[in-house]
Amino acid sequence: MIEKKRIAILGSTGSIGTQTMDVLDSIEAKPVALTTNRNIKLLEQQARQWQPECVTAFDETAAKDLKIMLGDTDIRVLGGMDGLMEAASLPTAEVTVTAVVGMAGLLPTMAAIEAGHDIALANKETLVCAGSLVTAAARQKGVRLLPVDSEHSAIFQCVQAAQGNRIAKIILTASGGPFFGKTAAELENVTVEQALKHPNWSMGAKITIDSATMFNKGLELIEAMWLYDMPPEDIEIVIHRQSIIHSLIEFVDGAVLAQLDLPDMRLPIQYALTYPVRLPCKMERLDLAKIGHLSFYPPDEQAFPALRIARQAAARKGNAGAVMNGANEAAVALFLERKISFLDIPRLVGQAMDSLPYQQIFSIDDVLASDCAARQAVYTQI
Ligand code: NDP
Ligand code: MG
Repeated sequence: MIEKKRIAILGSTGSIGTQTMDVLDSIEAKPVALTTNRNIKLLEQQARQWQPECVTAFDETAAKDLKIMLGDTDIRVLGGMDGLMEAASLPTAEVTVTAVVGMAGLLPTMAAIEAGHDIALANKETLVCAGSLVTAAARQKGVRLLPVDSEHSAIFQCVQAAQGNRIAKIILTASGGPFFGKTAAELENVTVEQALKHPNWSMGAKITIDSATMFNKGLELIEAMWLYDMPPEDIEIVIHRQSIIHSLIEFVDGAVLAQLDLPDMRLPIQYALTYPVRLPCKMERLDLAKIGHLSFYPPDEQAFPALRIARQAAARKGNAGAVMNGANEAAVALFLERKISFLDIPRLVGQAMDSLPYQQIFSIDDVLASDCAARQAVYTQI
């Protein structure tokens, strides 16, 4: 039996957050901090059930309401970015799950690292924007960045078998999303509803749109580059429609290792929290005969320019990741508000990348400035 782990869960009301809550019993963990943006109804329920030390609503008005709702308890109620950072770095926590969506996760992730917590990292945007700073801070503090993203968890699990041997190549699998096989012309008029229908995974809206544009795989390419210190040209992307093989690594002798299971985030979440121990997991077991066949295709960079844009950002490093990510977050939000078309997303991100100056980044402030400039570049185009 492993020791009871004390966990801070940032974004506990979201898709990854609620699935993290779902594995707490089986791994005998206790949440000491829970956070939301605005979903205080669910956060109140979670808080009453789990009795954490503190809860945070990023939205200050929601935080005020939550304080009243939890007035009969001892739970501290915090608000805003300061509250999120305090929840992330609570001295009693050993590990912080970063399941907030977007750049909003950067400062709390850095705060958790500073506090010496291991990071169960779902928030990929953090590494895309500030990979050099986040990995350096983690190294300096001696904390682990444990991947939650299913592809990066698969790589992490395969790496256990490397025994010090160099990994020659990472092969990231991609489902291809709802628009696999469509041409650029056919993508012209796709709707928000169509883009939100992912064939294999049920996730938050932002990552679901990223999966449809393939920016998700682009973000994951950069995430893998930082997590595994791999040059981007040694990271290959292959479309695998069934999402059963979650990713693969290739050794110098050509041997390829893969990790397989059904598309269910509870396994990678649980493994990040119990590593290096494995415990039984609630999810359904893989039955290969039932699945029948697994299929693979090369990605189509003509119809999905996000992959090409992400490769550019990965090769440039510096502020390129922050610019790409900031522009993408702004464009995805505009698409969800039905103010731009689906194909405007990669077009606007590409334009932001082309128009903003390349800069090195030395601090989180540099990252925030590039993020802000990228969002501005998108807004001025519409
Ligand atoms: P969701 O949108 O479902 O949940 C996001 C969580 O963060 C919610 O609790 C939300 O609160 C909170 N939140 C949103 N915006 C802010 C903000 N500005 N400040 C503070 N908190 C905020 O997202 P997902 O769970 O799908 O994704 C979370 C992260 O995990 C993303 O980075 C995503 O890329 C990554 N990921 C997700 C996977 C998945 O299967 N869902 C798979 C792999 C990676 P509220 O409830 O009020 O909106
Ligand atoms: Mg993924």
